[in-house]
Amino acid sequence: MRFPSLPKPLFGVSKDWKQCSKERLVIHIDMNAYFASVEQSCRPFLKGKPVLVSADPYGTPKGARSVAATASYEARKYGIHAGMPLFEALRLCPHAIVVEGDARKYSSISLRILEILETFTDLVEPYSIDEAFIDVTSTAHLFGGKVAVACEIKRMVRREFGITCSIGIGPNKLIAKMASNMEKPDGLVVIEKKDLPEAIWNLPVDAIPGISRRRKFKMNLMGIKTIRDLALHPRENLRRAFGIVGEYLQQCAWGRDDSPVVSISKIPDPKSISAASTFFKNTSDSELILSALFYLSEKAAVRLRKHHLRATVVGTWIRYEDFTSKGKTKKLSAEVESFEKIYHHAKEIFKENYLPPERPVRLVGVYLSGLSTALFEESFLFPEIQKREAVDRVLFEARQKFGIQAIFRARSLIGKQQVMID
Ligand SMILES: [Mg+2]
Repeated sequence: MRFPSLPKPLFGVSKDWKQCSKERLVIHIDMNAYFASVEQSCRPFLKGKPVLVSADPYGTPKGARSVAATASYEARKYGIHAGMPLFEALRLCPHAIVVEGDARKYSSISLRILEILETFTDLVEPYSIDEAFIDVTSTAHLFGGKVAVACEIKRMVRREFGITCSIGIGPNKLIAKMASNMEKPDGLVVIEKKDLPEAIWNLPVDAIPGISRRRKFKMNLMGIKTIRDLALHPRENLRRAFGIVGEYLQQCAWGRDDSPVVSISKIPDPKSISAASTFFKNTSDSELILSALFYLSEKAAVRLRKHHLRATVVGTWIRYEDFTSKGKTKKLSAEVESFEKIYHHAKEIFKENYLPPERPVRLVGVYLSGLSTALFEESFLFPEIQKREAVDRVLFEARQKFGIQAIFRARSLIGKQQVMID
């Protein structure tokens, strides 16, 4: 069979022109009440009953509060939601059955679900333990169209694992995700490009992924209640209130998102990851050096996440004004992926080896190796950590769009002003 040749671009369009001009078909798959559904499917006596899954149902001796990582739909009827403290959930529904979560089981089923998705396209991007994006722009027609693909995925997941999922179809990842959120459980929602942005404009503003309760509250005070309000709000105001994230979220309110679906097998795994910065002026100020390490830890963590990796070796190195260098690495007993942990180790290495600085420092760097693939974040059974990660993710998305320097946490501000970014 001969394929018709692609039309030539009229003007000097960037090499991405083919992608830009082509309408995409993105599907978002979201498992419903995932951990609870898996438990109900594995243990039939739990079917139809209110089930709560907790990482730590019996509480820790230190008295930390246990929370429900997931509640089955039967439990949700009582007003229970993921992240709710167990004692509160049990007050709302005393006969709920609490089950200890099994991270390994959920991960392995997730991997098998990804395999199912790979039968439809090789562009499969896991988004979290129970969510994934697939891009079926060039394959949907082989299966009878996008809706047929979605129905087949639902059928296969239900047959193999006895669980249901909500599916959203849209012209990009953002819209596909918002569509899958519209109907739960077992939903199927299609949003066409021609219906944007109106199709999402009547939704409350926090229907946009990444708008936390606090951000929503702040937006409501500014008179922004719906996505329409956000789309039409003066850009400068948003920029003042939320920085670059505000601008990013306004783009979302127009339904715009050009981030690609990236299959993890397509990303070449690096052997190591490093990030370094040169100071504008050589310095012996350890606070300043630490703040640069903070910034570099974040930068290294972003790269780590991009490649779905974890590290077991953290290192830092320093170049003095006379261009001599000194580097130290530390082998860790557990894998790290969050920037907080990376910074924690980088700081320790620095304090143990470089204090006080022998000579003024010209450059510092953070180094990660001993990398292994981590499809799912280790914390998925802990909703409180997940919430923080959701914020991290928005920062990550905004950075992808506007560049790494777009957002800084307060702690790394000193670093920003006084270091040169490599
Ligand atoms: Mg889900």
